[in-house]
Amino acid sequence: MDIAETSQTLREMMRNAPRPCVLVPTMGSLHLGHVALIQRARQAAGPSGTVIVSIFVNPIQFDRPADLLAYPRPLAADLAQCEAAGVDLVFTPTAESMYFPNRSVTVTESSLSLGLCGATRPGHFDGVCTVVLKLFLLTGCEAAVFGEKDFQQLAIIHRMVRDLDVPVEIIASPTVREPDGLALSSRNVRLSPEQRADAPRLQAALLAGAKQATAGQVLQVARQLIEASPLTRIDYLTLVDAVTLQETENLDRPAILATAVFYGEVRLIDHVKLGKR
Ligand code: AMP
Repeated sequence: MDIAETSQTLREMMRNAPRPCVLVPTMGSLHLGHVALIQRARQAAGPSGTVIVSIFVNPIQFDRPADLLAYPRPLAADLAQCEAAGVDLVFTPTAESMYFPNRSVTVTESSLSLGLCGATRPGHFDGVCTVVLKLFLLTGCEAAVFGEKDFQQLAIIHRMVRDLDVPVEIIASPTVREPDGLALSSRNVRLSPEQRADAPRLQAALLAGAKQATAGQVLQVARQLIEASPLTRIDYLTLVDAVTLQETENLDRPAILATAVFYGEVRLIDHVKLGKR
C-alpha cells in the first residue's frame, strides 16, 4: 500500500496507477462502515484496478469549531485498517496542502442542501461538494463510493455530478449498523457509556414511526420515542420526499424519515425509507 501526503505526490502516483481507479472519500477514524465501502470499491475496481482511500478531516465542511477540534484522528490505526482491507493507495493531505489561504471558489448546491442537515449546518454541503470535486480531479478516478447513511450527501453528490458533467460514476453502499441497530459512525466513540446504551433508540423510533399510516402519526410516534429519553435533544425530525428531499406528507411516493439528534455535544443522524416504491 502506498501513501501520498500531498496532491503533487498523488498526481505522480496516479499517472501509473492501473485503471479503473475507484475512490472512497473519508474523514478517517475508520470503522466497519468504511470497510464495507472499501470492499464495494474493490468489487468495482476489480482485482487489478486501483482502490484509493482519502483520509481528510475537511475543515471547510465543519460549521462548529468545537466539532472540528474534537473529531478523532487515529491515523496509524486507519492506515492499518486500509492495509488490511487491501487498499492500494491512501491519500492523507493536510488542510494547508488542500486549500490556498486566499481560495475563493466554492461549489454550491442550492436545492437539495437547504433542508435536513443543511438547514442547521450552514456551509456544510458547500464544503463537502468542494472537497469531493477536488478529490475527483486530483485522483482522476472513474468511480467513487459513498455511504447511504449520509443520504442527503449522496443525493447532493449525484446532483453535482449530473449538473457539472463530472465523469465519475457514483456508487451507493448500504448503511452498516451495530447489532443493536445503531448506525456505525466515527462520532460514536465520543458517546458516554450511558449515551451509547441509549442511542439505538434512534433507529428503533424511526422504524416504529415508519409503520404508521399517516405522515402526522409517523412523525408523532418517532418524536415521542426519541424524546422519551432525557439524554436526547432533537435537531430535526422530518419526513421528506426521497427524490426532492422536500418535506412531504405523501406516503404514496418513496419518502425518507430522517433525524439528527444531539447526545450532549455529539450529533448523530439516522433515517429509514418508507412510502410506496
Ligand atoms: P465519514 O468519514 O464519516 O465522512 O464517511 C465517509 C464515507 O463513509 C461516507 O460516504 C459515509 O456515508 C460512509 N459511512 C459512514 N458511516 C457509514 C455506515 N455506518 N455505513 C455505511 N457507510 C458509512
